[in-house]
Amino acid sequence: MNTIVVIGGGAAGLACAVHLQRSGAHVTVLERGERVGRKLAATGNGQGNVTNVDCSAANYFSDDPAKVGRALARFGHEDTVRFLESMGGIFLPDVRGRVYPAGRQASAVTDLFRGELSRLHADICCGIQVRKLSYDGSFLLEWEGGHMRADAVVLAAGGKAAPNFGTDGSAYSLALSFGHTLTPLSPALVRLRCDPALVKGLKGIRVDAALEVLRGEKRVFEGRGDVLFTENGVSGDLVFRASSYARAGDVLQIDFLPDVGMEKLQDTLVRHAGSLLCVVPNGLGRALTRRAGEDGADLAGSVKRFRLPVKGDCGFANAQVTKGGIPLCETDENLQSVFQKGLFFAGEILNVDGVCGGYNLQWAFTSAYLAAEGALSC
Ligand SMILES: Cc1cc2nc3c(=O)[nH]c(=O)nc-3n(C[C@H](O)[C@H](O)[C@H](O)COP(=O)(O)OP(=O)(O)OC[C@H]3O[C@@H](n4cnc5c(N)ncnc54)[C@H](O)[C@@H]3O)c2cc1C
Repeated sequence: MNTIVVIGGGAAGLACAVHLQRSGAHVTVLERGERVGRKLAATGNGQGNVTNVDCSAANYFSDDPAKVGRALARFGHEDTVRFLESMGGIFLPDVRGRVYPAGRQASAVTDLFRGELSRLHADICCGIQVRKLSYDGSFLLEWEGGHMRADAVVLAAGGKAAPNFGTDGSAYSLALSFGHTLTPLSPALVRLRCDPALVKGLKGIRVDAALEVLRGEKRVFEGRGDVLFTENGVSGDLVFRASSYARAGDVLQIDFLPDVGMEKLQDTLVRHAGSLLCVVPNGLGRALTRRAGEDGADLAGSVKRFRLPVKGDCGFANAQVTKGGIPLCETDENLQSVFQKGLFFAGEILNVDGVCGGYNLQWAFTSAYLAAEGALSC
């Protein structure tokens, strides 16, 4: 029987191992951390936003959007829900199409994988960081104090974001040794940094707002959702979505009252001596009023068009996802390396990243399925 090794026990590696083991292959998962699925257990603010009902390729960035579309057509969000529910649990969308386990616990999703892989008698080896991968008729995987052989390898070792979960970018070298390249890497789904003086007094305030990312005259993003002020910038669900588009030098324009027109706001301010009580949250109202008093800014303007020039992002350490990776064009339709037969990729290690809302886990599950199908026919 062929031996298949999955490097990385994250969302993609675990899903791939389940597909393979269910199909009768013998799988070994090598994970550098003490436990598998640690990042998965932390997703969606601990609630596990596993996919999204609107899972089209338009929600992804990659070097080959058509290939992402074909991959999603083979394993889309309904397949993900069916797959997860085949291990246990119930998965439901919220009003915005984001799918979560009904119990809203991401750690329970990791538990489903652990339980299923144990039931299937897969070999899960933790505390093993594969440092070298080579091929001389079969694959040789090497780590400190050990090595093993495999007929096929699925490299699902993640990207460079959130290194506290074992993904510091060091695993890219395993692919580079076969001639693969990397597209430029940058943090995505990440807090944005601004001049601290511009957000002074706003730290901790969370609002439902509309936000535009402006690049000169051009609007490169617009959306609606949660914005959370930090001491040096902004965070929150909407900012994470915007971060896929924003870069240093852009301006974030926030509308704190998106359901009310400027005219009504100005009329209210005139009639009630400039009071923002019951217009925006009190903390925000006080901060905007104080600021208008200090620098003479137009109060209605700062409610409807609050402008924050972007200085940058908060780096890989604070990012949820890596933008960039191994180009899709260096893989076939089953994400097999075009340079080395039997070497497959799955998950964030590839140059595919999704916007905020369950798209990155969907990619992990989609690519895991494709790689498993390919490895089975090796
Ligand atoms: C805080 C947080 C919240 C998130 N929330 C969501 C969400 O709600 N919805 C969503 O869609 N996405 C979310 N994401 C993104 C999503 O978790 C990732 O895109 C996804 O986990 C990628 O899966 P992966 O299997 O490719 O990589 P990972 O899950 O990162 O797993 C890779 C694994 O490989 C291991 N590894 C690395 N190198 C080696 C090596 N050399 N040898 C052995 N093992 C190795 C790592 O330890 C790690 O366990 C979130 C990310 C973070 C950080």
